[in-house]
Amino acid sequence: MPQEKLLTVTTIILALWVILIITWERVSPYRKGLSFFREGFWIDLVWYTLIQSYFLKILIFDYLIAPVQHHFSWSAIQFVKDWPVAVQVLFFLVTHDLYIYLFHRFQHSNKVFWRIHEAHHSGKEVDFLSGSRSHIVEIIINQTIEFAPIILLGADPAVIPIKAMLDAMFGMFIHANVKVKLGKLKYIINSPELHLWHHANYQEVFHANFSTKFAIWDHLFGTAYDPGHAPGNQRENWGLGYEYPKDYFLQHAFSVKRFNENNLLKYRWFKRYYNLRPAILSALSALRKKSVPKTETHQPEIFNTPLTPHQQEEILQ
Ligand SMILES: [Zn+2]
Ligand SMILES: [Zn+2]
Repeated sequence: MPQEKLLTVTTIILALWVILIITWERVSPYRKGLSFFREGFWIDLVWYTLIQSYFLKILIFDYLIAPVQHHFSWSAIQFVKDWPVAVQVLFFLVTHDLYIYLFHRFQHSNKVFWRIHEAHHSGKEVDFLSGSRSHIVEIIINQTIEFAPIILLGADPAVIPIKAMLDAMFGMFIHANVKVKLGKLKYIINSPELHLWHHANYQEVFHANFSTKFAIWDHLFGTAYDPGHAPGNQRENWGLGYEYPKDYFLQHAFSVKRFNENNLLKYRWFKRYYNLRPAILSALSALRKKSVPKTETHQPEIFNTPLTPHQQEEILQ
């Protein structure tokens, strides 16, 4: 299939997948009462999904991988070249997923690398779009390591759009606010059942459920946490146990220097900039209908304990 046609096909599949997941979230929600335009929705959509990924795609492919590809000869190690495309996709899917599992696990145990991962955990309301929230440096590392071997080892050009499509589909699925029971398949394929726990603010899962596409890594390496019930539905049960900036640029600045976002409001220029986004949003929300009122979900009787500020400090400082 010509590359252009393939891009059209993968884009259509992705668009259908988005519609399916959004509908699924409305029909069978994991946490009831989450608004479609939930907290941080516009930051995730506009900054992380559209602007950041657009610029990082150029940086990663044109300025990082292309120079390495053209300055060295790779023909001697292009062992995947003659494999069928499906086998190439499967090979890169599995090897990269194992890398992501190990790197993700490392990020949860290293203070410096946690700083470029905490953004991903900062959302209090997790849905299909939450997977897009990743620190710039985290994306540069992970996607360079993902796509450089595909190009340098001589894979078919079709592998890149197919792999990128599968990444997006899995990313939306494992973060989707949907109730799903995969049965025995849950030991192989990752799902919201495991990954939503990874986004919950509980000490039991700070070092668990690191898998992205294949849950098999968590089961194989003994890091699966699957208590059979959902986390609580309160704010403190989700995201980070400490205050995190709401602004895209401050979220990145916070990874370098800790500060209180509210303290910056004493500067007039900052206040003006900071209030611009909520002003636009409230103008927009005045135009649309009122969202569905929040309802409480059934709370499981036995709760695990969220991280106390002291425990957070021990982990993070
Ligand atoms: Zn994580
Ligand atoms: Zn996640």
